[in-house]
Amino acid sequence: MLAGGHVFTGNRRRPWVEAVAFDERAVLAVGTDGEVGAAFPNAERIDIGRGTVVPGFIDAHNHFLATGESLGSVDVRFPTVGSTADLVGVIANAAMSTPPGEPIRAFGFDHAKYERIPTRWDLDQATTEHPVLVYHVSGHHVLVNSLLLEQRGVPDDAVDPPGGGLVRDEHGRLTGLCLDAAMSLVLPVAVDVGNHGPNFHTEAPIEELVDDVERAGRAFLAAGLTTVCDAQVTARELAAYHRAARADRLPVRTIAMPLSHQIDAYEEVGLAGGFGDERLRIGAMKFYADGSLIGGTAAFSEPYGAHGEFEGSMYWNEAELRGMFARAHSLGWQVGVHVQGDRAMQIVLDALEAAITGSPREHRHRLEHAGFPTPEQIRRIAELGLVTVDQPRYLFDSGDEFIDRLGDRAQRLIPLRDELDAGVVVVLSSDSDVASYRPMDTLSSALSRRSRSGATIGIDQALTLDEALFAHTIDAAYALFLEDRIGSIEPGKLADVVVLDADLTRVAPEELSSIQVRTTFLGGTRVYDGRGA
Ligand SMILES: [Zn+2]
Repeated sequence: MLAGGHVFTGNRRRPWVEAVAFDERAVLAVGTDGEVGAAFPNAERIDIGRGTVVPGFIDAHNHFLATGESLGSVDVRFPTVGSTADLVGVIANAAMSTPPGEPIRAFGFDHAKYERIPTRWDLDQATTEHPVLVYHVSGHHVLVNSLLLEQRGVPDDAVDPPGGGLVRDEHGRLTGLCLDAAMSLVLPVAVDVGNHGPNFHTEAPIEELVDDVERAGRAFLAAGLTTVCDAQVTARELAAYHRAARADRLPVRTIAMPLSHQIDAYEEVGLAGGFGDERLRIGAMKFYADGSLIGGTAAFSEPYGAHGEFEGSMYWNEAELRGMFARAHSLGWQVGVHVQGDRAMQIVLDALEAAITGSPREHRHRLEHAGFPTPEQIRRIAELGLVTVDQPRYLFDSGDEFIDRLGDRAQRLIPLRDELDAGVVVVLSSDSDVASYRPMDTLSSALSRRSRSGATIGIDQALTLDEALFAHTIDAAYALFLEDRIGSIEPGKLADVVVLDADLTRVAPEELSSIQVRTTFLGGTRVYDGRGA
């Protein structure tokens, strides 16, 4: 038993207790030290001391495999890379240690923080002997060098695919920056996803992918995550998770959200989510409505940017979305739809409402990101029983750009308070590797709503500590239809339990990020110990 400290249970009837007892599988008892000690007098006692015990965190929207790839690739995130010159320098460095002809992959560039948008000619200064792929931090765009365009046979007069764009200079030449669905033209992709979403599913041997899964999974355990939902899964990811699980190399409970291009295939085998075991499951089906908030392609009713240059783009028109949601809903799928701007939200809500009222059932359809719902839209979200899966960490990473690009509207981004007040089930998640997967970073941003420069963004929308904890544990389990097994520390639940090294109730919101995980238990087994035991 863990005793003598603060235990957050995730159970709204009794959120804080002093002690918890569990065995090699499940939670046995929670309560005061006296209650739990009396029930299990012979249990080994570990003193919580100044720590805090919480349910294993659940990341309901995370790009698990991509996170593993990014952890094993060239890191070009801000602030490591803060300018075009930095980017060129880092890629040139990588080229020196990469055999000529081998691809160089880098993750996380964020040109909103640069003095200008980098081009393939910049990358060509770093190397002309390696094909170079630099992923945008949003995962929605990629920048490539001239050699890669040549190898992929993409000429200046290539046609923009539906749902995507190839950026050109004033002479009509490709700059190497490919937006949204146009990524599929330049990537050596393993699967064809059409314009169902951004295609970051690049070819790699399955052994490498299993390594990536294990690498990310171990990092998740060290951060206190015990369950992770991959929000965009193709045959490539599912095969890697399945292979990893069979080899006992899948460190966390994993839920896969198949991307919508696979709806026919799943219908053919008779599956509509909600299938699997305690380690690997198939969950909701993932759809895309508009583009990326950080990447500048989210669809707002009024364009954003200092000159209104970001008009936003949709992956589908209204009729197409209606048709897809109606079909997925009637097949029995839980729908998870990427939706950022209020223009996209209106279309999504209309389409989901039509599907739901056409055949009512418990659905828990998910709005992924829900960056800018209007007050009226929030009322509809509550009425329709939709779950919002939000990523407040964006406010830290890109908050200063949001203020520049959206002006006053930035204050109403990710309006968590309004959503809770309206009765919406709010779920916190990371969207890793777009943002940090560390729950302590997510919690810090949900409470402080501060940008990197320290500006507050919609501080009236900040959550309390308890609200944020519920949203990253039991309510995240609800979004995955798993609240009967995980997400809280209650007798009978799987003993996914994390010990943090500080008293959460005494730490200022901005300082939450510095809290480390002491120990992580998965199903009662100690799977991470920060003290190396
Ligand atoms: Zn995502």
